[in-house]
Amino acid sequence: MAQVRLHLHEANGPLPAVCMFCGETSTVVIAEKLVWWPRWTYVFFFVHPFLWANVAWCASRSAWVQAPFCSRHQRHWQNRSLSIWSAGTVLVGILSGIAFIAVAKFFELGDEGMAIVIYLGGVSLLAIWIMVIVFIHHMTIRPSVITDTEIVIQGVAESFVQAVQEADRERLETRSARDNAQVTPEGHAAANDPGHLQARMPEKSPTDAIEE
Ligand SMILES: [Zn+2]
Repeated sequence: MAQVRLHLHEANGPLPAVCMFCGETSTVVIAEKLVWWPRWTYVFFFVHPFLWANVAWCASRSAWVQAPFCSRHQRHWQNRSLSIWSAGTVLVGILSGIAFIAVAKFFELGDEGMAIVIYLGGVSLLAIWIMVIVFIHHMTIRPSVITDTEIVIQGVAESFVQAVQEADRERLETRSARDNAQVTPEGHAAANDPGHLQARMPEKSPTDAIEE
């Protein structure tokens, strides 16, 4: 699987009609808010899973992606959520069972002993569930970094990356051709729409644009 770097507005705009997961022609666009948390937050997991959950939540960033998928993979992220919640339900079931056995077997523990059993059971549940979430997260299409301007998405199809690069190239060529058309041979902005031209060409002088 490959990775792709997109500007945030590019990710939340129309992307090439190629399934992000398998590279086939896409049939649907799924709007999804991807969430990323920095790796350093995992240090807190070893202090306490609950602390990690809070730190990761505070340090997390999110970005919207208008993701193209084929009909087979349109439920890619829905299935991920379903797996996470199913795993959570199974874990709650297992730990409830253990708690009942603990109550039956160690009835003589008293209130304090039971409080410890319940606390340790709860923390174990949270820790296992977080590990399941992280594992499932790494099996799916996910962000590996989100900044103020861009998102890097991991686990996408190679053909999707190529389609994005191709679209970027075409966009640049179109823009360059349009810029050339809007600049007079003397290198002055077209008088009928100067504001529009200035907004389009912040990084290049009119002369450079002509030379391209
Ligand atoms: Zn697909």
